[in-house]
Amino acid sequence: MAESVRVICRCRPLNSRELALNSKVCVEMDQSVAQVVLLGDGPPKQFTFDGVYYMDSTAEHIYNDIVYPLVEKVIEGYNGTVFAYGQTGSGKTYSMQGDDSVSAQRGIIPRTFEHIFTATATTANVKFLVHVSYLEIYNEEVRDLLGKDKLQKLEIKEHSEKGVYVAGLSMHVCHDVATCEKLMATGFNNRHVGATLMNKDSSRSHSIFTVYIEAMDETGSIRMGKLNLVDLAGSERQAKTGATGDRFKEATKINLSLSALGNVISALVDGKSKHIPYRDSKLTRLLQDSLGGNTKTLMLACVSPSDNNYDETLSTLRYANRAKNIKNKPKINEDPKDALLREYQQEIERLKSLAISTPKDQQVVVQNVDIEEEREKLRAEFEQAMNQLRAEYEHEQKSKAKLQQELSTLQSQYEKAKADIESTETNPAEINRRIEMLQNQLVGGEQLDNEALKADRQRKMKAAEKKMQRLAAALNVHRDDPLLHVYNSTQEKLEALTKQFTQEQEKVRALEREVEDIQGEFELDRLDYLETIRKQDQQLKLCHQIFEKLQPTIRKDLNYANLEKIKREAVWDDDQQRWIIPDVLSSRTNLPSANPALQGQRIDQQYVQDDEDGILRLRKKLEDSNVDDIAKNYFKPLKATDLVNKYKADSNRMLNHHHKSLRHPATHDGLTSGVIYTDDLIERTGSAQRKPHRLDALPMPRNKSFT
Ligand code: ADP
Ligand code: MG
Repeated sequence: MAESVRVICRCRPLNSRELALNSKVCVEMDQSVAQVVLLGDGPPKQFTFDGVYYMDSTAEHIYNDIVYPLVEKVIEGYNGTVFAYGQTGSGKTYSMQGDDSVSAQRGIIPRTFEHIFTATATTANVKFLVHVSYLEIYNEEVRDLLGKDKLQKLEIKEHSEKGVYVAGLSMHVCHDVATCEKLMATGFNNRHVGATLMNKDSSRSHSIFTVYIEAMDETGSIRMGKLNLVDLAGSERQAKTGATGDRFKEATKINLSLSALGNVISALVDGKSKHIPYRDSKLTRLLQDSLGGNTKTLMLACVSPSDNNYDETLSTLRYANRAKNIKNKPKINEDPKDALLREYQQEIERLKSLAISTPKDQQVVVQNVDIEEEREKLRAEFEQAMNQLRAEYEHEQKSKAKLQQELSTLQSQYEKAKADIESTETNPAEINRRIEMLQNQLVGGEQLDNEALKADRQRKMKAAEKKMQRLAAALNVHRDDPLLHVYNSTQEKLEALTKQFTQEQEKVRALEREVEDIQGEFELDRLDYLETIRKQDQQLKLCHQIFEKLQPTIRKDLNYANLEKIKREAVWDDDQQRWIIPDVLSSRTNLPSANPALQGQRIDQQYVQDDEDGILRLRKKLEDSNVDDIAKNYFKPLKATDLVNKYKADSNRMLNHHHKSLRHPATHDGLTSGVIYTDDLIERTGSAQRKPHRLDALPMPRNKSFT
């Protein structure tokens, strides 16, 4: 069944700066009918939402009224999204993250942790698996706030069945509130913080904290809910923040994501648009499901009460008002294909069967023979690869020092890999340890006897429902139709109808003014876009001019001498949002390019001209690079850790292929360590299990097992 996006509005108190400036309050609220009134020079502007929260409100109020029922639904297996929208300094982060020093102001995000783990602990006969991830979109680049490499840009990909996902995003298993809080704090500290004139600590990035909750009941059926908690970047116009230089670059792009969000909302609300421009920005791609999709969505519009923020507040209220009209179609995610819980259960069962078989010598021997066989194969291929590597290396190079070093590292890491496989699969203590680790990651039913906790949960649900019903009733009274009333006299009826007519006339006038205002706002948007286009045009011209200056210096035997051809061969990659351009090739050189970094150096070098010293320097550099860089780079794809990882993936596949009983999924390390990556999940079910002929034909597994 379709349901609207819920929208609530929160107004923070005046801050000390506004108080010092004697700012006037221009926002009023009537909580009984969830109405906001914005006072300005013209007539007051009214907006009605699903809840309004004035200066003295707390995150506890907001959570209990409207977030609580949403999170309950996520625990049941629905998808949910809460996103905070508003200008910088309006209280988005304060609402989402909160203020730990005041208990009622603990934010929405930490409250969800408590809620989720209370719910899991008081639910009987269900096992839960909870993971979290935390990402940031900054400058239209996605980064993992909990990843090993915080600078690594991640790509957004789309899977035919599983939808849009961030490839390589880390998901961390959580079995208690404390772990979640720690991860939230770690990610929060990693957020980019830009100083603008509006608010020195304001964040220029969008962040998405996601909680994945999988639940398996006694029958083995699985439900999976996903909760996105989104703290958007400031919605203010870029010009007002005084952004310049690098800041301008940031602000332009952040506006791009928010503009795209606005355009998606408009297209959804419009009803006539066939095309919803989700692909226009990273944010809209990731929130695609939350806007017009299979998600229960709540928008928290944050506003400042101060009259010097009137324009921004009005813009936020209008934005929120439009979002109200979006219709979603939430449904429970039953037996999802990418459920990790099933993998956990299977791994536990597999390990248990190994543990049982251990005392029976026969079976152990059979297994050992199998493992011995696999190990032998592994070693043979490993040696063959080493020899091949050595031969290739010797053929290309005179120096062997580096090769020797790499090979010995490779050797020791291979030994470790081998020992790991043996110890896990044959040592009963190790097996039990793994089972325990896996079981510890599942939660559910720990507080089944805690009646108070259960009652509290029931009470909160009831209170939230009552609040909603009260509001709906109040709004209905408000919309009372005078034509349905019974009047004592015609005169009384006439008066009532005249009154309503006047009210309707006033509404029409207000709407006409609204149309004018919105047109004015569009005009400002248009000017913003034009300014952005002008700036980008200038950048483009700069690049063109630099290139025109350089083009005559490009050697004629290089493919880049023919620019038109290069342009024809270039292909736009939508996922990566960049051009894939041909490698630099020379008709004179036969050596293939070593790596992109090296190619870059060569191009730079070839641009140097008419300079004897320059050419000599260039020759020297090229000679050095032959000795140094090729040694480092040419074989880079085959370096030690990668090779060992390839072997590990290979051995997993072989074990899998030959012995179903020894199934060793590629994600097993993730299961026990509690950190799993999105692309591992997708590859796990997507790729065919085939035995590779050549080592380098193997897909590259994540480099996490042996480091
Ligand atoms: P945003 O994330 O929207 O840029 P913040 O959440 O960082 O804004 O809030 C800006 C400042 O206002 C912070 O110092 C915060 O403590 C304060 N603040 C925001 N909302 C409230 C509120 N409801 N009550 C008290 N202080 C608030
Ligand atoms: Mg913030």
